[in-house]
Amino acid sequence: MLSDDELTEIKKKLIDQINSNFPEDKKTEALEKINSVPEDKFEEFLIQNNLIQEGDQKCIFCSIVEGKMPTNKFAESEHSIATLDINPISKGHSIIIPKVHSKEAPKEAFEFAEIIKERIQKTFSPKKVDISTATIFDHEIINLLPIYENETMNSEKQKATQEELQKTQKELISFKEEEIPKKEIIEEPKEEKIISDKTHWLPKRIP
Ligand SMILES: [Zn+2]
Repeated sequence: MLSDDELTEIKKKLIDQINSNFPEDKKTEALEKINSVPEDKFEEFLIQNNLIQEGDQKCIFCSIVEGKMPTNKFAESEHSIATLDINPISKGHSIIIPKVHSKEAPKEAFEFAEIIKERIQKTFSPKKVDISTATIFDHEIINLLPIYENETMNSEKQKATQEELQKTQKELISFKEEEIPKKEIIEEPKEEKIISDKTHWLPKRIP
């Protein structure tokens, strides 16, 4: 259990972050959401939304990077990891977590996000994949949100079962083999070059 002071401090931080990071038209809604949570439910709200770990005030993203939190990681680069959001807004909703705890994600994290964005696009064929950043507890992460209808980062989060998440994770891990038919490479040598360039950038996969 966090103390009242700690909860007040966390709430203040969250509100600050919304005020400085959210687009103007989203601010009111997000602030209302936070302010509508009753005080005695606030810790529960933080845990449910993955903002803190129970009994732990440490940065959740650092815990994930350090492997101290179970996660559905499906790709990794030198600077970042790609994992599924535990309460996804849509199928394949992922986050890129820079390994360094910083208010500003390094440019390599954004390059990595572009690669992962394409992987999500090819695996699940949404209309598009939106990229947005979020800073929680001073750790900037990148959201990759597949849009199938008209989802936004403020759409309702779904409660995904671990089984569903694992299935999505597997699909994203096995993307490479399935998505590059040999035929295409033979017919379009240009495409092959792009693919091999990309392979160079691809993070090593988790075993
Ligand atoms: Zn951190």
